[in-house]
Amino acid sequence: MFKQVRRDLLGLLLICFLGSSFLFFTAPIAQSKDASMSGTMDFPSVPKMEKPVLLLGPAGEHFSFATCQKGDLVFTWADSTIPPGMGPMPHIHHYTNEWFYAAEGGIELFSSAVDFDNVENPPDAAKGTRTTAYLIPMQAKVPVYGPKFHVHGFNNQDKVERPLTFIWKPDPISPPFPYKDGGIREYFDAVAQKIPDMDHIPAISDVNRGLFGSEAPKYGINQSFYFLQYLNHVETEIPETLKHSSNAELKEILDAVREYNAGSKEVTCR
Ligand code: ZN
Repeated sequence: MFKQVRRDLLGLLLICFLGSSFLFFTAPIAQSKDASMSGTMDFPSVPKMEKPVLLLGPAGEHFSFATCQKGDLVFTWADSTIPPGMGPMPHIHHYTNEWFYAAEGGIELFSSAVDFDNVENPPDAAKGTRTTAYLIPMQAKVPVYGPKFHVHGFNNQDKVERPLTFIWKPDPISPPFPYKDGGIREYFDAVAQKIPDMDHIPAISDVNRGLFGSEAPKYGINQSFYFLQYLNHVETEIPETLKHSSNAELKEILDAVREYNAGSKEVTCR
């Protein structure tokens, strides 16, 4: 029921804007061996660990997590499979910056242009602080950068499962969580159901769905409970201020994962 309402609501929002032409937001790609002229990149697969950490997301996403370190560089990487029509409710990260990579496309992101920099004070209808989301259709293999403080989320627009890779890198303002990754692993470990193996995926429990929202602020995250809790408008024309990228940092992370997967001992993942 809940899922159906959510899907219908998003569908309605999308239908409202079907007449508009979609602007494709592609993160400007620095010239490197990863980049082609079209802005696409080939991401490596999730760091190969002996025991992969498999977790279930609040919208039925299947996540395979790894938190890796190379010197001072720490990041959490998750490969995921997003069921058709699904995605998380709008949320805000206060301690991490994030990259998204849809190997096959089919995913539409949305992000606010307004920053909400106080975890105690997320957008609120009663305060008149709900904001606009801008739709960002993802092109296959073109990464999109999402910095801290923006309301954001995504949806699988297709009728089939689609892969989506996430990378979270702690912002310098993050407190020192045990994994040093800005609290993402700690958050998922605390609230998500474990997947014993991909042939036995549990149903999402209401308890865990609730925990994703209630526990989030401890990890510097505001997680809304319904789609329009933080948002009151959707636009397709993306403002210049949202066209940010951070490809030098991203390249460093991709290189570290490739080194790890090739057997380097300089990079550790857990
Ligand atoms: Zn996020």
